[in-house]
Amino acid sequence: MNIESFYKLYTEANNCIIDSRKLQPNDIFFAFSGENYNAAEKAEEVIANGALAVVVEDAKYNNPGRNIFYVDSTLEFLQDLAIYHRNQLNIPIIGLTGSNGKTTTKEMISTVLSKKFKLQYTFGNLNNHIGVPLTILSIKSEHELAVVEMGANHQKEIEALCKIAQPTIGYITNFGKAHLEGFGGFEGVIKGKSELYDYLKSNDKTILVNEADTIQLEKTTDYVNKISFGKPTSDYVFEVFAKDHFVGLIYQSEKLLSNLTGNYNFTNLSAAVSLGLHFNIPFNDIKEAIESYFPSNMRSQVQKKDDKTLVLDTYNANPSSMSASLDNFNEFEGSKTIIIGDMLELGTESELEHQLIYDKAKALSFDKIITVGKEFKKVNTTDFAFENTSELIEFLKLNPITTDNILLKASRGIALEKAIDLL
Ligand code: ATP
Ligand code: MG
Repeated sequence: MNIESFYKLYTEANNCIIDSRKLQPNDIFFAFSGENYNAAEKAEEVIANGALAVVVEDAKYNNPGRNIFYVDSTLEFLQDLAIYHRNQLNIPIIGLTGSNGKTTTKEMISTVLSKKFKLQYTFGNLNNHIGVPLTILSIKSEHELAVVEMGANHQKEIEALCKIAQPTIGYITNFGKAHLEGFGGFEGVIKGKSELYDYLKSNDKTILVNEADTIQLEKTTDYVNKISFGKPTSDYVFEVFAKDHFVGLIYQSEKLLSNLTGNYNFTNLSAAVSLGLHFNIPFNDIKEAIESYFPSNMRSQVQKKDDKTLVLDTYNANPSSMSASLDNFNEFEGSKTIIIGDMLELGTESELEHQLIYDKAKALSFDKIITVGKEFKKVNTTDFAFENTSELIEFLKLNPITTDNILLKASRGIALEKAIDLL
């Protein structure tokens, strides 16, 4: 099957999917085959249930008469189709990468820019070699702009995603200690994420730079097409504004306050507001957009429960976001408990990084420290240490936490949110 003739079919399709359970009438289903599962087996059934077409990578199921098409690799076909589609689209695309804060920043930018544009943006966290092409393929002719989150855990991944998304504006949220294993240490993270800058530079596109970040500043000094914030000399100058643990900013003596907690969100907000101003959206509209956005995705979420304040940040964790989260929580008034879970995927640096975070937690003013996970258990010899969330839950049933504030933060794999009902 060649891309050009398939593209005609695509333009008539509703949506592209990779999970047959999510089928809507007229969708195209891309069937992947894994070690234990061959989605091509579902091809006929999916067509019978109303799919427009199915792409399979198993020749046995090829049936062009029923719109079931065999290709060498479903993944490559999906990516090539997305590139072909991107080439037909003449719209700005904002590409985001970084170690932390991509999804939050994507949500903020999208909230702001939707005040003026009909836009498409990454659904949830679909930011990888499959998610990015699916996002591109979800852009329809009515869309005027798109915001695409690009995730990576090893070298050359951002380069490949840039070829698909072809961003016209790019932003790296930060360089942090995440996915150290795959990138080969912190220097590797900088190199890997900077593939976005390399793409933008060689294609004469625009970068958004946080000039308060010395690595970003240094990496982009010789770039021409730049939108900047973060310094008094930047294009857009913001001051921090905070109230009741929520973060906001001041721009030309006008204030806005988000519903996000965590000082690090000042940067994320600054990026969104800069892009809003860059696209000539009035500050008042930007303010309205940000102030009416509430996070509901376990990222920087504050929840009141009875007379307690819960800070829910269980969506993910790595040393940089954990450290930022502890600093932020330390500022809360009243008594404080932290329940922190393992930071996964740290490779050989895992024990050291867990030790550093544990030491940091001890040095701050928390009334109670609880850790969850095998990595923290190795270094936590003086406070409560549980192997997993189930053990924590059993403990909480008998020992309810009574402090005014509770922070929950861990990597996704620890599933710490399961303990929320017991707090
Ligand atoms: P993923 O790699 O899972 O896609 P992400 O980059 O999309 O992650 P978010 O989901 O937006 O990141 O945020 C995850 C957590 O990272 C937040 O809850 C917060 O603790 C932390 N975080 C967010 N923004 C920043 C930032 N600018 N600097 C440091 N930490 C941040
Ligand atoms: Mg994300």
